[in-house]
Amino acid sequence: MGSQAFDFTDIDDLYSEIILDHYRNPRNQSALAEPDIETEGINPFCGDEVVIQIGLTGDLIASVSFKGSGCSISQASASILTETIKGTTLEEAETLYFHFRDLMHGKETSERSTETLGEIEALTGVRKFPIRIKCALLAWSALEDGIRPHIEKPQE
Ligand code: ZN
Repeated sequence: MGSQAFDFTDIDDLYSEIILDHYRNPRNQSALAEPDIETEGINPFCGDEVVIQIGLTGDLIASVSFKGSGCSISQASASILTETIKGTTLEEAETLYFHFRDLMHGKETSERSTETLGEIEALTGVRKFPIRIKCALLAWSALEDGIRPHIEKPQE
């Protein structure tokens, strides 16, 4: 499928374990019958694709699923995303995206942001491989594209 193998020997063991676990056993794979939001991301450099579906209750992300193909980083990231945003508000999900994006681009963020990252933190192990940052952020930028029109707050 054009996806390249990723050499995990250079990243922290705990981070590798989390990423590989999500890659091998991706979470939230059942398509939603009537998604309120459906959004897609494609990374041509690596052949990664991901489609995210979200079901809303008010502005709460009540259900979420994804389908995708591509490298381990992109698919693990999408799986972690679904686990992380389920039960958050759209605004909270967007804030997570901003923090994660800043971290991946090497910007130091407040202590609060790393505390709330949970398993997302494992993906920051990838940031020393610039070509893989796109893979890790793919699902998240797709998420932002999908949820932004539903959020009234101005963009950061
Ligand atoms: Zn990739």
